[in-house]
Amino acid sequence: MRWCYEHDVALVPRGGGTGYAGGAVPIDGGVVISLERLTRIRAFDPLLWRMHVEAGVTTGEVRRLARENGLFFPPDPGATEQSQIGGNIATNAGGPHAFKYGVTGAWITGIEAVVPPGDLIEVGGPIRKDQAGYDLKSLLIGSEGTLGIVTAAWLRLHPAPEMALPVVAFYENTAQGSDALQAVVGSGLVPAALEYLDGGAFAAAAGSFPGGAPDAVGFVVIAEADGTAAEATALRAELVEALESESPLAVRAPDATADVEELWRWRDGVSIAVGAVRGGKVGEDIVVPLDRLGEAVEEIVAIGQRHGLDAVSWGHAGDGNLHANFLVDLTNAEEMARAEEAAEEGFALAVRLNGSISGEHGLGWLKRGQLHRQWAPAALGLHNAIKATFDPKNLLNPGKKR
Ligand SMILES: Cc1cc2nc3c(=O)[nH]c(=O)nc-3n(C[C@H](O)[C@H](O)[C@H](O)COP(=O)(O)OP(=O)(O)OC[C@H]3O[C@@H](n4cnc5c(N)ncnc54)[C@H](O)[C@@H]3O)c2cc1C
Repeated sequence: MRWCYEHDVALVPRGGGTGYAGGAVPIDGGVVISLERLTRIRAFDPLLWRMHVEAGVTTGEVRRLARENGLFFPPDPGATEQSQIGGNIATNAGGPHAFKYGVTGAWITGIEAVVPPGDLIEVGGPIRKDQAGYDLKSLLIGSEGTLGIVTAAWLRLHPAPEMALPVVAFYENTAQGSDALQAVVGSGLVPAALEYLDGGAFAAAAGSFPGGAPDAVGFVVIAEADGTAAEATALRAELVEALESESPLAVRAPDATADVEELWRWRDGVSIAVGAVRGGKVGEDIVVPLDRLGEAVEEIVAIGQRHGLDAVSWGHAGDGNLHANFLVDLTNAEEMARAEEAAEEGFALAVRLNGSISGEHGLGWLKRGQLHRQWAPAALGLHNAIKATFDPKNLLNPGKKR
């Protein structure tokens, strides 16, 4: 970084390259800094529920190591074997279990980073509270490599739940499914995960759904109960009751560990299955208040229809987070242009429903220049001033997150 800063050369940090916003792509040249060889576990204190890892350690490795020691690192963005802790921090990644446990930032107590013009700083550490200075740690979390390069982090861990029991409920339509989601939350139940797929997204992946599915599915809810065996069993029964209140077509509740793992593996593959329908997809990860989720799901399909495109969505329902995708043939320029227009309408929809244009993937390059849609000029001015304070020459991942 010091060399690049002295010679006015842009730098782009790159973790596992699984981000969905083009954030790790060097758009106007420069040096790509790969973190893949920073793979040391610097410290692991299972009895103190904490781990100090370098930025290139994968999410999967942290989760495995924690698990082998009776602990749990909850953030679980899809591609766990490839995404890195540094990338997860830079995007403040979420995942299905963020509903109960929160996103990556909730599990980071300290960050070591290189900041322009080439200084190594450490904010926070193996401590659970820190109220001394401004919260620079939280500024770095989710900054998409535009403020500093994360080199290591202290992670907070949690004792592993003894058991996790999912429930899958199939509905005829979005209205029933979204009412069922509100029935779960309104009953005061706290599932570890609360996910949904609309009819189109489910159809794309239905062929490999473990155990087969009913016909004419219009909406699917996946909820998971966790805790001690007794807690998980009791909560699952309550989840089944809440989900049955909206007359589902069927409800499945797998028990065996292998079946539970198969279900989540299937869920991880939904994005790829949707992409395979037409060979490509133009996607967004908008977020809306939970009570507007059903409306957003239906409106995304309608936006697609207005642009002559099939549109589907799925995502982290409990967090109101939709992965809304317009299905395209990537080689058809005219279709791609229509999909871009549809995506713009999707952003406008999120803002109109009091939501945000990005719930978890960030703005990166794909959503560049969109922040003005949801923030007033004064807030944007502060945002830009923070960037200028960290990176006065605008060399660190330029053009992203704005
Ligand atoms: C199948 C699939 C499912 C996914 N599911 C989810 C999901 O449920 N929730 C979710 O939030 N995301 C999800 N993602 C997106 C992605 O996995 C996450 O955003 C992931 O955390 C990115 O990590 P990475 O190491 O691959 O980062 P990269 O893609 O390499 O980089 C992402 C951004 O972070 C910056 N960056 C990377 N490393 C560093 C570093 N050490 N210091 C500073 N900046 C850095 C890059 O410059 C870029 O801007 C999914 C992706 C895939 C492919």
